[in-house]
Amino acid sequence: MLILDVPPQRLSRTSFMQAALRQALRSNCRFPMGAILTQGNRVLASAPNKKRNSPMIDYRHSTFHAEEAVLRRVSNTEGATIYVARVNARRQPAMAKPCGRCQQAMLQAGVRRVFYTSHTGVVQGMVLLQDPM
Ligand SMILES: [Zn+2]
Repeated sequence: MLILDVPPQRLSRTSFMQAALRQALRSNCRFPMGAILTQGNRVLASAPNKKRNSPMIDYRHSTFHAEEAVLRRVSNTEGATIYVARVNARRQPAMAKPCGRCQQAMLQAGVRRVFYTSHTGVVQGMVLLQDPM
């Protein structure tokens, strides 16, 4: 997988990111995250991360990631964009860079652009590309 960084932008400019932050505030996880899946100007799905309740899952995968949750809700995600937000204990934006597993899942689902919050209040972005063979 190839990852290209896109120029950062101010958090307040993106209403999709505000919606992702609202999802994060609904989460009951220790690291509250939220995600919005969009196509053009439309929101296809939104979800916070959730606790899994299986005792067989190791601690790193003890939550159902917000990115996985939104991907599962929509059948056609080709060309979609995901906004991922995390809030800290003071309900301020925090680093929400998707984990490797979610990056792979998004790439497979055809999601190309990912924007995520950082602790500086600036939105980071990346483009996911298939490795050229
Ligand atoms: Zn993840």
